[in-house]
Amino acid sequence: MTTLMAVSPAADTPALRQDMIEACRALSQSGHIIGTWGNISIRVVDGLLITPSRVDYAVMQPEDMVVVSWDGHKVSGTRPPSSELELHRLLLQQRPDLGAIVHTHSLYATVLACAHRALPVCVEDMAQIIGGEVRCSAYVPGGHHRELAIAACDAIGDVATAVLLANHGPVAGGRTLAEAVTAARILEKAAFLYVNASLLGHCAVIAGEAVAEERDRFLHRYGKEDIPVMSGEDVACHTT
Ligand SMILES: [Zn+2]
Repeated sequence: MTTLMAVSPAADTPALRQDMIEACRALSQSGHIIGTWGNISIRVVDGLLITPSRVDYAVMQPEDMVVVSWDGHKVSGTRPPSSELELHRLLLQQRPDLGAIVHTHSLYATVLACAHRALPVCVEDMAQIIGGEVRCSAYVPGGHHRELAIAACDAIGDVATAVLLANHGPVAGGRTLAEAVTAARILEKAAFLYVNASLLGHCAVIAGEAVAEERDRFLHRYGKEDIPVMSGEDVACHTT
């Protein structure tokens, strides 16, 4: 039995919706999303708040966002929700520890997804924000949205905050939108490192206990630890 710590739903405000738009634009500018093939959802009180289908991020407005209940019915919004609604809805239901999910088509994560390969934890920031090996789902042909969502749920497990959709792209989550966006960026960076280190002949992965320790530190102690502060004299002594 898992003991995932559930996050509280976010308040659905115009500012939060604007943050989703800004996140889409930033991920688009950095090449993680091409065109409108990316989507974001956030756990809110009435269900999930999700980006609309096929609206250019440059013109997207806070009122374009859609709220969908946990049983899949539209609660509010004039636009159709992202075509990947089921992916977000089922993943957020399965993983109460995630408050937001970001789906992109970023390049190196998709390289692994096309090779049907998992991404092992190969760098420390991945250990902290993703927390474990990112598995690749079974392949599901385009348009079979519910089957894709089920395949993603089968693959993600209950440790890593991300999963690769075979021949498609990555999905990353976090407790907040900001954390999910960072997870999507770190996932892409780690995939780049893993692919390139493997081309050099070997990518050394971080041992499971060290990953768990780093993840625990990030979740529970990050920013709260007492770090010894050196005096000016100590600094001078160590830098000469
Ligand atoms: Zn996609």
